[in-house]
Amino acid sequence: MAASENAWTCRRCGRSDAPRLDWEPWPGDLGREVRETVCSSCWNEWMTIQTRILNEYRVNVLHPDHVRAVREQMCRFFDLPLEEKSSEQ
Ligand SMILES: [Zn+2]
Repeated sequence: MAASENAWTCRRCGRSDAPRLDWEPWPGDLGREVRETVCSSCWNEWMTIQTRILNEYRVNVLHPDHVRAVREQMCRFFDLPLEEKSSEQ
């Protein structure tokens, strides 16, 4: 864990010059984590996949189980921990 504040790299593509997200694309800690560690082009990449998942599985975004399933896919995609951490740092 050598995460220096000055040397930011995207957790997925590893680029340090990639444009970053300026908003949290998911509620809670996970959204914060994504915002802080994922670049916007990787997020866009995920959005394409997410859209496909939503269409293919007819996901109801208001259904908690469906939301959980999408969240899980997203965590796999970005290699994020699946468990929600209440207080880190
Ligand atoms: Zn990236």
